[in-house]
Amino acid sequence: MRTPLIAGNWKMHKTVSESVELAKKIRESVAGVKDREILICPVYTSLYAVSGVVKGSNVKLGSQNVFYEEKGAFTGEIAPGMLADSGCSYVIIGHSERRQYFHETDETVNKRMKITFKFNMVPIVCVGEKLEERESGNAFKVIETQVRSGIRELTPEQAKILVIAYEPVWAIGTGKTATPEQAEEVHLFIRNLYSEIYGRGSADIIRILYGGSVKPDNFAKIMSQKNVDGGLVGGAALEADSFIKLIQY
Ligand code: PEP
Repeated sequence: MRTPLIAGNWKMHKTVSESVELAKKIRESVAGVKDREILICPVYTSLYAVSGVVKGSNVKLGSQNVFYEEKGAFTGEIAPGMLADSGCSYVIIGHSERRQYFHETDETVNKRMKITFKFNMVPIVCVGEKLEERESGNAFKVIETQVRSGIRELTPEQAKILVIAYEPVWAIGTGKTATPEQAEEVHLFIRNLYSEIYGRGSADIIRILYGGSVKPDNFAKIMSQKNVDGGLVGGAALEADSFIKLIQY
């Protein structure tokens, strides 16, 4: 039985006080929720303050990225140990916005994933095709490459813990959602591919989240699919009401 994971990616939104306010509302509203895992991923500057808000609660804290070195002369980057020290237990890696605007590649995704594990945090590795890749019939090929190159060389223990997020790029922030059937088709493909690489036991355990214009009115249908184990949510995670509705899908 895979525990659903509902993760809010706050992207480049909210000051420290706004983040603390939203985290408090979420913490209070989900206090009784036991059958799903709840994660919020604020901007770096808010992490430490928000960790104080969610400490001891059922809301976990994650980062939106991490650099792949432990320390050094890397101006503007953030080290894995710093994130762990700020209370993070998850790290989003290879989000399509990172790939698109900051030239993230499967190679750097792989390095970030490995260092995240080294610091005992759980990577959420994002994969997904662009619109033209879907329209030209290449979606599965693109996803296969992202999984094989980006998620290579996990230890058997790590292979059971990793989280994958399928986020079709054409659905992120566009209001266009994949149909539940489209999502399930890709999730099943990813799980079978993962099984080929890491074995059926690990493939059956890991959570594969869907992301891309998830809203309270479309989430239940997406979650009803056999291989969808949660959501990575952008816009609808920025307001307490809609995020809480998603958690209660
Ligand atoms: C995301 O940020 O990963 C995302 C899926 O955004 P949105 O829900 O706004 O489409």
